[in-house]
Amino acid sequence: MHRSLRFILLGAMAPTALGAQAPLAGFTRAASAAQRELERRAIAVPSPDSARRIARVLSAEPHVAGTPAQERTRDYVNGEMRKLGLRVETKSYRVYLPHATGVKVWRMAPQPMELAVDEPALAGDAVSGMVQYPTVNGYSAGGTAEGEVVYVNYGLIEDYVKLDSIGVSVKGKIAVARYGRSFRGIKAREAEKHGATALLIYSDPIDDGFVTGDVYPAGPMRNSRGVQRGSVFNGYGDPATPGYAATEKAPRLTEQQMVIPRIPVVPVSYGTATSLLEGLAGARIPAQWQGGLSFRYHIGPGPVRAKVQVTLDGVPYKMIHNTIATLPGRSNADEVIVIGGHRDAWGAGAGDNVSGITSIMESARAVVGALNGQAPARTIVFATWDAEEWGMLGSTEYVEDDSLRLKKGGVAYLNLDVSATGFDFGSGGSPSLRGLTRELAREVPDPRGNGSVYSTWRKRYAVADTSEPVMGDPGGGSDFAAFYNHFGIPHADWGFGGPGGVYHSAYDSNTWMETFGDTGYVAHAAAARLAAAMLLRLANADIVPYDYVEFGKTMRRYTERTSRQLASLNAGDASTLDQAWQRFTARAVAFNATRDSVLAIGALAPAAKNATNAALRQVERRLARDEGLKSRPWVRSLIYAADVDNGYSTMIFPTIGEAVRSGNVALARTELADLVTRVDNAARALDDASAALTVRR
Ligand SMILES: [Zn+2]
Repeated sequence: MHRSLRFILLGAMAPTALGAQAPLAGFTRAASAAQRELERRAIAVPSPDSARRIARVLSAEPHVAGTPAQERTRDYVNGEMRKLGLRVETKSYRVYLPHATGVKVWRMAPQPMELAVDEPALAGDAVSGMVQYPTVNGYSAGGTAEGEVVYVNYGLIEDYVKLDSIGVSVKGKIAVARYGRSFRGIKAREAEKHGATALLIYSDPIDDGFVTGDVYPAGPMRNSRGVQRGSVFNGYGDPATPGYAATEKAPRLTEQQMVIPRIPVVPVSYGTATSLLEGLAGARIPAQWQGGLSFRYHIGPGPVRAKVQVTLDGVPYKMIHNTIATLPGRSNADEVIVIGGHRDAWGAGAGDNVSGITSIMESARAVVGALNGQAPARTIVFATWDAEEWGMLGSTEYVEDDSLRLKKGGVAYLNLDVSATGFDFGSGGSPSLRGLTRELAREVPDPRGNGSVYSTWRKRYAVADTSEPVMGDPGGGSDFAAFYNHFGIPHADWGFGGPGGVYHSAYDSNTWMETFGDTGYVAHAAAARLAAAMLLRLANADIVPYDYVEFGKTMRRYTERTSRQLASLNAGDASTLDQAWQRFTARAVAFNATRDSVLAIGALAPAAKNATNAALRQVERRLARDEGLKSRPWVRSLIYAADVDNGYSTMIFPTIGEAVRSGNVALARTELADLVTRVDNAARALDDASAALTVRR
């Protein structure tokens, strides 16, 4: 919702001469009252007890994609959704998903010994004693490698530059990198590029372990045997079918054609890493390379030698299963709001992502309960995705499979990935949905009972009256990528976080959750309440309340940085882009004013309403381009992309950013002009929306 209306709502909380509340953005006054009542009923439905019940079923055992346990979570979710009366279907794909069956790490010198790599069972945490997925990174190559050890700090591009300057190479050696600062897939890519024969990635206690707090089971942080699994695939979706759905008959790349790691990549604990790093000698480390272990780090190479062996299962193709539960729309069934999260995990996944799935299931119960037999105006889809942990496979294949329908009718995608591991609220997504998220966070009680989710969030950020808590930019690290970064379908996500060190570990269990995380499942329920309200608002609004004023203003704040980038290349500045966003924002202001004045008169004719919403859906679609980024054609959004050289940081206006990084002045200018044209095109969609509002009412 845009700023002016939020002021009106704030004013309406105090006694006013008007008495009545202002209408909701995108609703008539009459419809607003009914909608508020509907959302109040929905927000009241989710309960911690129900969330606990669901979460305990889903976190009862490790459920890695492609396993029988993961088929059991599919059947459970489908059963529960069916009980709610939703239309349930399973969308399955055959994808390249080799499983590791074993891993061994030895120190070969000095004092040869096999190192423990498993996460031991802990008394009092039953799930930690179950058979776990081997501690091997997803899409690691199989095989054996042996060589001297080299410590490469975080394994970033700049770390290898540093190593070069010191005169140390990883060629033919085993690289040991610590987790953090970058996506692990980039670490694997860089190690392989520099000739390492294997990569070990460990969790350093200074970033993820005892330096940050007491370790599990005494505290929530990572213990000396805790391991962070995770994919080292840098793409989106099935590696065998890039850009199209992995249906049974789809053509597939050969393994040689796939862009996947060719060396073993193995995550280890800091306990295991100690046995390799402690004895390293050789070059002195740069000051910042020292981690949290109790000895002085060295780079090597050697004299420590290691050997790594990864065994794969030999049946790389497996079926994955998305669950799709649909509540068909009454008047606009082709217009779809999707809420989704990934159902797979590396272990039992109580936080990642049983919490998200639990919140989605509770939101379904809330929406169905509040509607009480009525249908929403638009269609709502409650999805759970498989194999996100391997590279967003389930959601990507689904979107590629259903691309025409989603491109045309996708209204919004809401993503819940880790909805509750604590009580600190955070949110992100497209700036077009941030205002709505904030507005509805005011309506949801804080899970620990201190005011609203919004008021607690604000207090934590301690921002000035005139500004709002910072929200995350969607770079592409979860299932929203296919919807947002690939297609430009507006996206929002949120969750409650807290201190923890069990990410992608066997200890991400319901015991951890009930001892240190969302102990009473109140945050699970709160995330569901916000989801239910968001879904109903987006599904029922006469005019979908995207906020392109906030969008345009947010973009204008970014253009300064783009100007600096261009200046660094002597390629001029981004003033033409800033002016384009200024024009865009002016069109958005005009649209909002027309929308509010038209809806103040009364309901719209269906034709006007449908044409307006169709035009609005074009705005962000037009800020994505079919040919995508030069670095990654699949990534089409020209607004946000994960940094191709980091993965955890988000690049804004990536076509320009990547051209600048490559030092290509001509390309930077071309990309700037291209983006300006597309921003103006998007602004025209806002004009179309304004025009549609006022025809043949
Ligand atoms: Zn996750």
